[in-house]
Amino acid sequence: MTLDASKSADAKPIVLIVDDSPDVHRLLKARLRVEDLDVHSAEDGAAGVALAKSLHPSLILLDLDMPVMDGYEVLRTLKDDQSTMNIPVIILSGLQNAQDKVTAFDLGAVDYVTKPFDIAELKVRVRSALRMQQLIQMLSQRAQIDGLSGLWNRRYFDTRWTEEVSRSSRHARALSVAIMDLDHFKSINDTYGHPAGDAAIQGTARILQDAVRQSDVACRYGGEEFVLILTDTAPKDALVLCERIRAAVEATAWPMHPDRKVTISIGVAGSAGACDATPDAWLHAADQNLYAAKKSGRNRIVSSELPTSTTGKLRAAG
Ligand code: GH3
Ligand code: MG
Ligand code: MG
Repeated sequence: MTLDASKSADAKPIVLIVDDSPDVHRLLKARLRVEDLDVHSAEDGAAGVALAKSLHPSLILLDLDMPVMDGYEVLRTLKDDQSTMNIPVIILSGLQNAQDKVTAFDLGAVDYVTKPFDIAELKVRVRSALRMQQLIQMLSQRAQIDGLSGLWNRRYFDTRWTEEVSRSSRHARALSVAIMDLDHFKSINDTYGHPAGDAAIQGTARILQDAVRQSDVACRYGGEEFVLILTDTAPKDALVLCERIRAAVEATAWPMHPDRKVTISIGVAGSAGACDATPDAWLHAADQNLYAAKKSGRNRIVSSELPTSTTGKLRAAG
C-alpha cells in the first residue's frame, strides 16, 4: 500500500521561494543549500502560484511587494485552492509595519520575517515550519488509516472512490471495485472470542495487501467488510485477483482456531472502458453482487460488467 504516492518518505522537502528580487533567490539558494532542501524559485506571483500547484512544495517563502501580482494576492490565491491551501507560507518582506503583518497572518501565513533578514533566524523559522508541516501531514494521514487492519479507512475510500470513478469516466479507462464480507463472522466472535475475530480481520487485510498492485487501493469498509479499488482493471481481471484472495482466505490456518476455516464472499462491479455510472451506482452494483454471493452459498464471487457510457453511445449514434 502506498500511503502518499506523490512523495517518498526520504525525499528532500521542497521549498519554493517567490520573490521578484534575483538577489534574494541567489542569497537564499546559497544559504539554504546546507539545509538539505530542494529549493525552487519563482520571480513573480503568477509563476509562484503555478509552481506551487505543480511542485506541491512543503513550504513557500513569499515576498509581499511584487509588481502585477503582489504577495497578498498570491497568498489569497493559494488559500482559495484546495491543492495549495495547506502549504505553509512564510512571508519574507521589507514591509515592517504591524498592519502588513496582521493582514498576512489573517490571510493564513504561518510566519513573517522582515528584510533584511538574519539568515540564522530565517533558517530556524524554516526548520520549525517544516517540522510543523510534517506533523500535520502525519496526523492527516493517520486519520485516513484504519487502526486495526492498517488499511485505508472508509473516509479515505469515499474521497478516493469518487476521484477514481471520475478519472476512469473522463479517460474511458477500465475500473473495477470489489466489496468483500467475511462469512458467518459473528460465529467466529461468538465461538472463539473477539480477539480471534480481530486476528481474522488483520489476517484478511494482510492477504489483500499482498494480493493487490501498488496502484490499487485496499480499504476496510466497516466491521468485517473490505473494499478494493482496482484501477485500470477490467472486471475479468478483477475476477482473477478476487479468486486468488478468496482462495487465500480459505486456505489460511488461523492460529487461534486451526480447525475452523474463515471464508469470504465478494461482489465485483467493473467496466473495461467508457462508463458514466455514478460512484454510488458502481457500489450499488458491487453490493448487489455481494448479496447474490451470500444468497447462493457464500465463499464465492459474483461479478458483473456495468453498461458502457450512455453519452458515448449517443455521441456514436448522432
Ligand atoms: P454473513 O455471512 O451474512 O456476512 O454473516 P456475518 O455473521 O458475517 O454477518 P453479521 O453482519 O451478522 O456479523 C458481522 C459481525 O462482525 C458482527 C460484529 O460483531 C463483527 N465485527 C464487526 N467489527 C468487528 C471488529 O472490529 N472486530 C471483531 N472481532 N468483530 C467485528
Ligand atoms: Mg457484514
Ligand atoms: Mg459477514
